[in-house]
Amino acid sequence: MLSDAPADVALPDADLLRRFDMPGPRYTSYPTADRFVEAFDAQAFAPWLGRRETMAAAPLSLYVHVPFCNTVCYYCACNKVITRDRGRAAEYLQALAIEAGLVSERLAGSRRVEQLHLGGGTPTFLADDELRRLMATLDAHFELDAERGELSVEVDPRSCGPGKVRVLAELGFNRISVGVQDFDPAVQRAVNRLQSFETTQATIDAARASGFKSVNLDLIYGLPKQSRATFARTLDRVLALEPDRVALYHYAHLPERFKPQRRIAAGELPSAQEKMGIMLDAIARLTAAGYRYIGMDHFAKAGDELARAQALGRLQRNFQGYSTRPDCDLLGLGVSAISKVGPTYAQNARELDDYYDRLRNGVLPTARGVLLDRDDLVRRAVIMALMCHFAVSKEAIETAHLVSFDEYFSRELAALRDFADAGLVETNGEWITVTPKGKLLVRAIAMVFDRYLQNDQRVRRYSRIV
Ligand code: SF4
Repeated sequence: MLSDAPADVALPDADLLRRFDMPGPRYTSYPTADRFVEAFDAQAFAPWLGRRETMAAAPLSLYVHVPFCNTVCYYCACNKVITRDRGRAAEYLQALAIEAGLVSERLAGSRRVEQLHLGGGTPTFLADDELRRLMATLDAHFELDAERGELSVEVDPRSCGPGKVRVLAELGFNRISVGVQDFDPAVQRAVNRLQSFETTQATIDAARASGFKSVNLDLIYGLPKQSRATFARTLDRVLALEPDRVALYHYAHLPERFKPQRRIAAGELPSAQEKMGIMLDAIARLTAAGYRYIGMDHFAKAGDELARAQALGRLQRNFQGYSTRPDCDLLGLGVSAISKVGPTYAQNARELDDYYDRLRNGVLPTARGVLLDRDDLVRRAVIMALMCHFAVSKEAIETAHLVSFDEYFSRELAALRDFADAGLVETNGEWITVTPKGKLLVRAIAMVFDRYLQNDQRVRRYSRIV
């Protein structure tokens, strides 16, 4: 769907942010992962792998989760295992090999992988030889296309110096995502992530010298000891590194849910007002420096393929954020990884022992998932169009899903009037368009179309933008 949404983001005033910034899902999937059910298990998922023959030529996207980290960052809400026992990686790689075999022997259709993402945890916890072994396993079961494909990896500069970057390049990786969060030493101490600017710079320089096509840098705002002044200095250093993409995530302090966060002193967190200031300053700085606001935390240089894919209407949203490829079936390998195949989502067991046990029994490690019904599919199309392109073509939805848009979504269109009155969306007979001022609040606009939230109090579990 080609978007004619205005290219730029405008900063809504503080009152609008307060009014419309409600807790909500990030819509890396719809239905969101908290709606997955255990009744959708390995037995329910396996036939969908075998039904890909109807899309014989459709390529795959592969996600591989490596859960291990050397030390814990106190803000962390990821699924990870903190260990200094490097031996644990060998056992995990064996399990991944078993899983890759179980998946690929059930798979109909193409095994060509257009997109591989290695995420974690910390993928660079793996030693060089282990990374080579992992890629050999994937090569044995799938057709990786390093020439044309997008092979990306998340790296922690503390465990990924120039030597390891070169190994990753030799293995075919061509996109790199570098975890930073903040360069300020006091903030780094408060979150237990000590990482010098020079260490990060060496990793990024090596990536450029090794021919990586795109460098992404991850930042977080709302961390303890952060202020507008400290984050301005962090941004100076970020801009000096000239990443192709920047992800600016919001820290949600939920110590009752995420144990490591209990080690963050609540009194050291910036106030809501300061946090909003940090975010608005950062957006203003990044856009003034030539970065385009892609949506939900992501910025990219105008020439980067993420910005180009958005301009061409090819942007997709997935569990890693945004993706430049057309809607591939996604296979998730590893503990807690999520697959998206046909009209299904399937998530692997989230605990390592459970994941190993299922594989020892020779079954797919799927622990829960969902089969989308017709209503889910049409709502997913609307929500993803909003999240990726800030615009929905009613005609495109009607043609693809055989519904009359205005009738099917009469309740939702009425609910959008509040957003329209506040200048956040514009609607007419053909389009719903998020205005530049509404872009930061797109999640709240998408929530209007989420059937599961309509009568549900669970919204309180989600985080806010600010
Ligand atoms: S933030 Fe990343 S590196 Fe830090 S503990 Fe979490 S997964 Fe590991």
